[in-house]
Amino acid sequence: MHEMSLAEGVLQILEENAVKQGYQRVKTVVLEIGRLSQVEVDSLRFCFDVVIKGGIADGAALEIIEVPGQAWCMQCSETVTIDTLYDPCPHCGGYQRTLTGGDAMRVKELEVE
Ligand SMILES: [Zn+2]
Repeated sequence: MHEMSLAEGVLQILEENAVKQGYQRVKTVVLEIGRLSQVEVDSLRFCFDVVIKGGIADGAALEIIEVPGQAWCMQCSETVTIDTLYDPCPHCGGYQRTLTGGDAMRVKELEVE
């Protein structure tokens, strides 16, 4: 499962940061997930709960912020919001746009102690 390896990746980040920043427990994890990242949020929540058991993030709350897909349209010379990877520019209907955001997942904030 794709989401399982993502959840393991997040846990790895938490453990590495714990060593660097010297915290023992993670209380809250805030993840930013792009609409275009193809991450299933429900599935990720489930996997996260499984992988954190017994570790530094055991019982941690998971907050997820979904961010819209963003692209730069060459025709309009502006940043536009798109819902899928295959959407044209909502203003001019053109396909000369380059993806600029909303296609990744990252750890945005941590509450630790
Ligand atoms: Zn456009």
